[in-house]
Amino acid sequence: MSTTADDSVRAIFASMDYGPAPESAEAARAWLARHDRVFGHFIGGAFVEPVDGERFATVHPGDGSTLAQVAQGSQADVDAAVAAAQQALPGWRALDPGARARHLYALGRHVQQHARLLAVLEALDNGKTIRETRDIDVPLVARHFYHHAGWAQLLEREFPGYHGVGVCGQVIPWNFPLLMLAWKVAPALAAGNTVVLKPAEFTPLTALAFAELSLEVGLPPGVLNVVTGDGRTGAALVAHEGLAKVAFTGSTEVGRAIREVTAGRGVKLSLELGGKSPFIVFDDADLDSAVEGVVDAIWFNQGEVCCAGSRLLVQESVAARLEDKLRARMETLREGPSLDKAMDMGAVIAPVQLDKISRLVEQCRAEGGRCFQPSWAAGLTAPVGDDEAGTATRGLYFPPTLLADVAPASQAAQEEIFGPVIVSMTFRTPAEAVELANNTRYGLAASVWTENVNLALDVAPQLEAGVVWINCSNVFDAASGFGGYRESGFGREGGREGMFEYLAPDWEAALPTYAPGELTTPAGADGLGLGGDGSGGDAAVDRTAKLYIGGKQARPDGNYAYPVLAPGGARVGQAPLGNRKDVRNAVEAARKAVGWTRATAHNRAQVLYYLAENLAARAGEFADRLRVLTGTSLDDAAREVEVSVERLFFYAAYADKYDGGVHATPLRNVTLAMPEAWGVLAVACPDEAPLLAFVSLTAPALAMGNRVVAVPSPRWPLAATDLYQVLDTSDLPGGALNIVTGVRDELSEVLARHADVAAMWYVGGAEGSATVERESADNLKATWVNWGRRRDWFDREQGEGREYLRRATRIKNIWVPYGE
Ligand code: NDP
Repeated sequence: MSTTADDSVRAIFASMDYGPAPESAEAARAWLARHDRVFGHFIGGAFVEPVDGERFATVHPGDGSTLAQVAQGSQADVDAAVAAAQQALPGWRALDPGARARHLYALGRHVQQHARLLAVLEALDNGKTIRETRDIDVPLVARHFYHHAGWAQLLEREFPGYHGVGVCGQVIPWNFPLLMLAWKVAPALAAGNTVVLKPAEFTPLTALAFAELSLEVGLPPGVLNVVTGDGRTGAALVAHEGLAKVAFTGSTEVGRAIREVTAGRGVKLSLELGGKSPFIVFDDADLDSAVEGVVDAIWFNQGEVCCAGSRLLVQESVAARLEDKLRARMETLREGPSLDKAMDMGAVIAPVQLDKISRLVEQCRAEGGRCFQPSWAAGLTAPVGDDEAGTATRGLYFPPTLLADVAPASQAAQEEIFGPVIVSMTFRTPAEAVELANNTRYGLAASVWTENVNLALDVAPQLEAGVVWINCSNVFDAASGFGGYRESGFGREGGREGMFEYLAPDWEAALPTYAPGELTTPAGADGLGLGGDGSGGDAAVDRTAKLYIGGKQARPDGNYAYPVLAPGGARVGQAPLGNRKDVRNAVEAARKAVGWTRATAHNRAQVLYYLAENLAARAGEFADRLRVLTGTSLDDAAREVEVSVERLFFYAAYADKYDGGVHATPLRNVTLAMPEAWGVLAVACPDEAPLLAFVSLTAPALAMGNRVVAVPSPRWPLAATDLYQVLDTSDLPGGALNIVTGVRDELSEVLARHADVAAMWYVGGAEGSATVERESADNLKATWVNWGRRRDWFDREQGEGREYLRRATRIKNIWVPYGE
């Protein structure tokens, strides 16, 4: 080797500089050229012209060059796509599960065969690096279709008594365009549904390429339809009356709007929204690994990741050391053209996103936050390419950024920045770490770093997040559910839990609607103030109930009661007319009763057994009471009590058996899928079978560890208020079950709006169902409403079962890696 060559090798070793390593864009350019760089929608198995003929450009964020013109979907286009999906539904549903599975399998195969085209196209349309699209996005897409081919194959065996919901409208964002498509389309098709998908305005190309692949594999026309366009197209899709299911990933703001638009329509909904996920480093963590974890957490995909670890919480004693290591690592990151294989980061999606990131960073700096960016950051503003017209353009690059000494309440620490920016804070104790971690309205993911597995597994259940990664970050797999707590949305994508989002129980679909007049609204306050002793002033009045809050009987705030009438019109008692203050008190009591959620499943089972025994001991008295209240025969009343007792036994039995699983993810991980209680769960009961319906709705919620606020049958609330003594003698802790009587729909509206109620079940009229869904949008609580359909509470399929337990919980997936 000559001296010069020797020197240059030496220089390379010294600088560790990389030369350019560009991936060829040939496959993608050829594909675009084949379509003359102009696309229509994909409807009914063919590319079709947009009805209005409107189009817009999709550009490469790395240099601003135009890649193609795509169609702007109008109402008419959305109508056509939904009609195609509806038409294809019966045939797709009727296919043998094995045949459906083979279609999904073929899609997975074709994704692998066209991996290069898809990876390059994705990198061009989104600006992310080829290293990520090639090694992460596309392999995960293929994996998703293979995994769900399996669910399609096993559907009848693994989900007996369930069927696909119907036509699904799916709206996805721009950060993982093809992967989000896979997360939505694969389970929908596996469950026997057909789909209309709207990709994000910024990134429609890989969805169109995928649609073309679906033609190649012979997917029946109309099973998958893609309508491109901006937010207006998305809005037209989610408002469409022809949908049975809407699935959305994107901002919390749009998720909230979609919750409102779909309210009361009998549409199943899953929302995967924003996040501000904590990345917690304890003092015994392997700090070098943690640094690589931070790189994966916040600089993967330029930080445009809903579950990005964007809040670094470090134990004080190691904070300075970790920061030093992190700053050194930031210097070695590389950012630039997305098709350069040696790049760690590419361009952010669009000028609007770059502005948002810059604004939040500047604001944090102005508020006194220390801002660190690598020394090479200054070079990022240089022009980086030519657009189609040959004009020099700037790529939309934002450097990796660390904001330290940030106040937990500041905007940078609370708002989703959706860029390569991490804010750091310190804590002293594990309890403080948990408190800081949960100090957010979101709850998508969390990452915990410690070499102490006991500590990790102690902290993980305390974190309000749908996914917890221990000593790892941003790992995903089709076998493991992904989705949020709190304002990060509800529903899961992936795994067994994700399949339920596209299925419905057969019994639920077959229910009749309530007959007119079957549901009542109490006349309201009849002017009868509760007497000083709470016994009412009417001699004919049998008994005046109170509310039950925090384990104690409580007078209603308004001091009003309403008459409870037997079918013949005779007054059989009075019930308190609860108001919003009473609801607030009940929720407050439930919020505090965390001991019930923390109790072991065995303990909860014991209490439910005890309740069952105590009710059984007083069966005659309860039956007689029900007979007088509802006018039913004594035999029927006795049966209602008997079935109520059985139901308590049923859920007592299940309390320690409805447990989680370990997902078989292909990485070196055990992934623990743990069903967790929601926390405070509100329940509104129908009128009929007043004791049995009350027990059927509250017992599963309690069995799973929820603290319940229940509105019993407004017509016959005494069936529930008579239970107070049974509750008192059954060791149920105060606040675990709270009862507020009154007007169901009024109280339900308050409960649906309440920020501390995490989930709500409503069984009543169609209008009340719509109100609950609409009003729940504010804190994005999960709801289960009956849309005005009547259940037979005596029927074991309709009145009890695992569907109730599933609805009483949400799955947290905890990833625990193993090996050295
Ligand atoms: P949006 O929530 O607006 O976009 C997500 C998808 O919804 C896109 O397909 C969008 O269409 C569509 N959409 C927009 N408005 C409606 C509507 N009213 N009804 C139905 N669909 C609609 O996110 P943005 O792209 O505007 O990003 C804004 C912020 O959202 C980001 O800064 C980030 O904080 C967050 N975000 C979170 C994501 C996540 O994964 N959790 C993903 C993306 C963004 P179109 O693209 O044409 O606007």
